[in-house]
Amino acid sequence: MRRIKLVFVSLIVFLCLLSGVSWAEGKFPFDGRIYRSRHIRDIKKTYMIKGEISHLYFHLWGEKGKIDSPKLILELPEGIKVLCAWHGMQAGGSYKIDGIISEDSGEDFVRWIIPLRKDILEKYIRKGPNKWSRSNLFIIFETGKDIKIDKANAFWYLETNGQKGKEKPLEINIIPPLGEVKKPSRIKFYFYGPALFNCPDEDIWERIFSLFDRINIKGGVRHFSVSVGKKLAKRGWQILDFGGEGWGGWAGGYWGVKNPNRILKPGLKVEDIIITLRNGKKSKNRRSICPTYMIENSDPGELYFEEVKKRVKECYWEGVAGMINDYEIAWEKSEVSPTQSCFCPRCKKAFAKFSNLNPEEIEN
Ligand SMILES: [Zn+2]
Repeated sequence: MRRIKLVFVSLIVFLCLLSGVSWAEGKFPFDGRIYRSRHIRDIKKTYMIKGEISHLYFHLWGEKGKIDSPKLILELPEGIKVLCAWHGMQAGGSYKIDGIISEDSGEDFVRWIIPLRKDILEKYIRKGPNKWSRSNLFIIFETGKDIKIDKANAFWYLETNGQKGKEKPLEINIIPPLGEVKKPSRIKFYFYGPALFNCPDEDIWERIFSLFDRINIKGGVRHFSVSVGKKLAKRGWQILDFGGEGWGGWAGGYWGVKNPNRILKPGLKVEDIIITLRNGKKSKNRRSICPTYMIENSDPGELYFEEVKKRVKECYWEGVAGMINDYEIAWEKSEVSPTQSCFCPRCKKAFAKFSNLNPEEIEN
């Protein structure tokens, strides 16, 4: 009985603490972070090349209907300019922001005020950070050729309803000018997510292209409109198209099978065809299906093939170089990928046959 009481009391204390935290934070209905990738989500440090443009990508979130006159304010050292900004996300969207102004902020710093678009925030903002929200924000900067410093402690904050949000630090490191880049002739570089080409300003768009061109990036996955894809293809870029959702559906690291019941042979349970991980345990993701089972049991014309046909149709436009299927990508930290695949007896047997090894000798 005493133990139960103690647990109960701690639970109450815990709930109070929890609600205390959310009350304190709940007063300000708008928040943001600088995002790079799913593994680097909250950036406090960035690099800018002397004499070049650079960018930052912000996730913005907050309470719908409670945000008015939203602004993002950056306190930057002299010599770094905000060139343009737009709302959008990695996979697209380009809602131009007008009226960016700067004012002297003293001590060699300049305050850049970016008036955010209330219409876009009203429409797309979500309660928490989300990479698929079109209310997110891209900002393009220019670092002067003659900038004197090599490091600065800048900061930024959000404003809504005339109230200032929390200041967030941003360490800016200035790195030497690009100079001449030696381009290897036999290696081509592609950029998975060149979302910066959603830039709504023509002149700055050209500068983004010029920078990518000088560092020898010659293509990428289409994270922009088809018309932008065509423009890049005309300039020799190889664009791979996505076309809607991947076939089969996301399986947390590769494209899996949306509905395992569709490919289940009589007498088997879904559990029997789920991928076995290196540690011998079954994946908890019901989309992760044993690849050997797929090869041995799915009829051509069914499932993948039919889905691929639909997608090729969706992806095609004049100039497209091909299509990307995330299946080939070994995502960092993925539970399953082409190199971290299935270790079930069925797969080991198939591998033994392929490699002429004794199944007993094959370790996970
Ligand atoms: Zn397997």
